[in-house]
Amino acid sequence: MDKLSAEQRHKNMSAIKSKDTKPEMTVRHGLWKRGFRYRLNHKRLPGHPDLVLRKYRTCIFVNGCFWHGHHINSQLMIEDSACCRIPKTNREFWVAKIRRNKQRDREEQRRLAEMGWHCITVWECELKPSKREETLDSIAFTLNHIWLQDHGAKMAPDTKLEEDTLTLVAADDGPST
Ligand SMILES: [Zn+2]
Repeated sequence: MDKLSAEQRHKNMSAIKSKDTKPEMTVRHGLWKRGFRYRLNHKRLPGHPDLVLRKYRTCIFVNGCFWHGHHINSQLMIEDSACCRIPKTNREFWVAKIRRNKQRDREEQRRLAEMGWHCITVWECELKPSKREETLDSIAFTLNHIWLQDHGAKMAPDTKLEEDTLTLVAADDGPST
């Protein structure tokens, strides 16, 4: 209840423009088009990842920049930025709230990592039309890379990655000393 009303308040306040561009949908469609298959909102996994790709042992979180503190650095300091503007009014309230969210996100991803999951965080600002395709390509690249690592780079799921495979194999063999 409280969370919802606060979110609503923020929406009214900052006039979020993403009314018909649901970031999650962008990621789903983009990955589907690139041949990836996934499950949605795994309730049993920590943090309820937005997309779960079992084959890649990967959870994807599509995060709103404001609520998940895109520009809060590792010391949990707030840095105002285009995608994450903290309201001047009640600033301390918002900062504290976002810090808690951020800490919770990190805790959840740590637990997922312990369970053997990889985590990818996609930020809403990276899904703007001008950046969208680049971001989706880079997620696809990361997923293929994860797959290769998990499978000892023996077999590439995508022949375009042949060069990477060779590099990885070469790195594994290393200089024979
Ligand atoms: Zn952002």
